[in-house]
Amino acid sequence: MGSAASSLQVQGSDGSLALADARASDLIKRRVSQRRQMFSVQAASYSLGALVLLVYSYAGTVSVVIPSTYFLSGLSLTGFFVVLSETGFNDRFEDHYLTIFQMGCNVALQLGFLMAAPEIGYTFLSVLFLIFGFGALRMTSQQAIAVWTLTTLGLAPIFLLTDLPIAMPVSTPAERAAAMLAFVLTIGQCAFVGLYGSSMRKMLYNRSSELKAANRRIEELAELDELTGSLNRRCIMHVLDEEVVRAHRGNTPCSVALIDLDWFKRINDTYGHPTGDEVLRAFAITVFANIRPIDKFGRYGGEEFLLLLPETSGEGAARILDRLRAIIADLDWSAFSPGMQVTISAGVATLKPNETPDIILARADSALYAAKARGRNRIASA
Ligand code: GH3
Ligand code: MG
Ligand code: MG
Repeated sequence: MGSAASSLQVQGSDGSLALADARASDLIKRRVSQRRQMFSVQAASYSLGALVLLVYSYAGTVSVVIPSTYFLSGLSLTGFFVVLSETGFNDRFEDHYLTIFQMGCNVALQLGFLMAAPEIGYTFLSVLFLIFGFGALRMTSQQAIAVWTLTTLGLAPIFLLTDLPIAMPVSTPAERAAAMLAFVLTIGQCAFVGLYGSSMRKMLYNRSSELKAANRRIEELAELDELTGSLNRRCIMHVLDEEVVRAHRGNTPCSVALIDLDWFKRINDTYGHPTGDEVLRAFAITVFANIRPIDKFGRYGGEEFLLLLPETSGEGAARILDRLRAIIADLDWSAFSPGMQVTISAGVATLKPNETPDIILARADSALYAAKARGRNRIASA
């Protein structure tokens, strides 16, 4: 017996380990695909940048070496990060985008080209905005300060210690076209970054709404009886404890009723268990339709239910229960099966000073027993 139980436990922990493994590998797959998306955007961005530089080389502002090396080095840098990502290197780090490292390398590349082709330096400087825009989606504020400081340290010597003629040439139509293209593309990419950020925010919002709904469902499942939708035994007992405390504290009356369906075994035997289930459901719905919002109704076990009636005297409770009894007895149960009749019996008890939940429940149970003994389809008060 002991060994069977321990082998079950081992199986259980194996199962949960396997589940955790599956979740972790799902997460890694999702992260790899997120990074692939980012790398495609990066490659596209370098290609567009190279296109602008190509127009400048066509205009004769820079040599064709600039657009081609820009294109090749941009793609190589991206390729280097793709290799790291695909070999799983990134997954070792909490920041799996390697944000600082990536931003640092890309900023360095732009600064290198700023020095190599200062006559069109504004194009490389404007890419810095994009790099920071993208980085800002993932960076912590500390990371942002670190990268900004590094970038400042990179820019300061170029601007302050050299006399490189950093410029935006616009003296020929081709150069004007290239400048326009550079701005239009940069603005477009900035808009893309913004839209991407807001789509991430929307996704997070949706995720949190889904999570809230799932939590609500879990709470419901933990509180409700699956078959009847009434409170489950654990919950109704908890509510009974609370109501007893409240009634004692506020010195208000409180009644409880144990309700049991009469001859229910016979109903099951005659019409089948599934029909018995339907009867239980219909009974619970009928009760819900005829009690006050402050009343609490739960399944005590099998075909026995507990109804809590706060602020209700014994007389009032007996009246409410007798009304319920009559409603159930008068329902047209033949819809379930021709000739079917369903009745209930209930034991009602009203809280006495200093009485505990156990005692009032025991009194309600004896009253129920008395109602059954007197012939069923009746209410008895303790
Ligand atoms: P009494 O009037 O004395 O209460 O008679 P009874 O037949 O209702 O009482 P008994 O305790 O002998 O039988 C209760 C039956 O309720 C037996 C059990 O199979 C049935 N029952 C308990 N839970 C469920 C359920 O969830 N679905 C169905 N269909 N039957 C249930
Ligand atoms: Mg019964
Ligand atoms: Mg019973």
